[in-house]
Amino acid sequence: MKARKMKFVSSLIASLAILAVPFGASAQGYPTKSITLVVPFAAGGPTDIVARTLAANMSRTLGQTVVVENKVGAGGTLAGGYVAKAAPDGYTFLIHHNGMSTAPALYRKMAFNPMTDFEYVSQAVDVPMTLIGRKDLPAKNMQELSAYVKANAKKINLANAGLGAVSHLCGMLLQQALGVDLTTVPFSGTAPALNALLGGQVDILCDQTTQTTQHIKAGTVNLYGVTTKQRIRALPDAPTLTEGGLKDFEVIVWHGIYAPKGTPAANIEKFGSAVRTALKDPAFVARMADLGAEIVPDSKQTPEGLRTWLQSEINKWGPVIKSAGVYAD
Ligand code: ASP
Repeated sequence: MKARKMKFVSSLIASLAILAVPFGASAQGYPTKSITLVVPFAAGGPTDIVARTLAANMSRTLGQTVVVENKVGAGGTLAGGYVAKAAPDGYTFLIHHNGMSTAPALYRKMAFNPMTDFEYVSQAVDVPMTLIGRKDLPAKNMQELSAYVKANAKKINLANAGLGAVSHLCGMLLQQALGVDLTTVPFSGTAPALNALLGGQVDILCDQTTQTTQHIKAGTVNLYGVTTKQRIRALPDAPTLTEGGLKDFEVIVWHGIYAPKGTPAANIEKFGSAVRTALKDPAFVARMADLGAEIVPDSKQTPEGLRTWLQSEINKWGPVIKSAGVYAD
């Protein structure tokens, strides 16, 4: 009798506890299973390297594995559409870069709207790019490359990770700066693009330092410059592209973390706080610094910091891309 009464009382308490959780707010135990972090480009590439380093650190904080899944295609927009339509339960997130802000101007048909289909978690790291070439290309510095490209424009292959990738954006700015129209070769990420360059199948590539630093240091590629205004600590001897004659050439790759619209705020907060823990972990910071990446300031490590930044980037790049007349149907 007593036992039955106690059972009734405890199930009543449990029901009241469920009612006390506002609709949309997840129960306290989150996460109770592994979480998927979707990467829009090929495994082993620069976005993937940032995602996997972050995921390993976050798995320790959250007590559940953050599994990286590469959903490649259409310059990163395939992954955006996939996450926009995923269950908004706190178990699927997206890490994406500048492509989130350039895609709306580049794609006439988009499977998602970056400003209305997501919840925002945080920004993470900023990464410079480098312009590199295959080792046996006769041009050994930016001045020589400018002359070589202008004289051989028809023969030069410029690799990228598809329309909407930063390698595409950087390549577009390079062609504008040199006044040339090169043959572009798209890949599913800059990991396969770099492999093609190392194998001599393509000539030049713009790519993040997170992937290129080791090859530059090993001397297996030609380095033409970094895309920052100042030289960077990870590659102190590397000139900027501006030093090489490309006036005001600047491309910085920023990263945002997103969740499907409607994901419970409590889960966003828990996942976001694990991101912030990683961004303050000395081992994570040191690893990123070795690869040329910098942790964003605290003001960008918030949902609002990401949302306002994304909107400003859409406002900045939309008109530039539209006036260049580049788009996909
Ligand atoms: N670096 C690539 C880009 O150009 C993306 C990647 O493969 O991570 O956008």
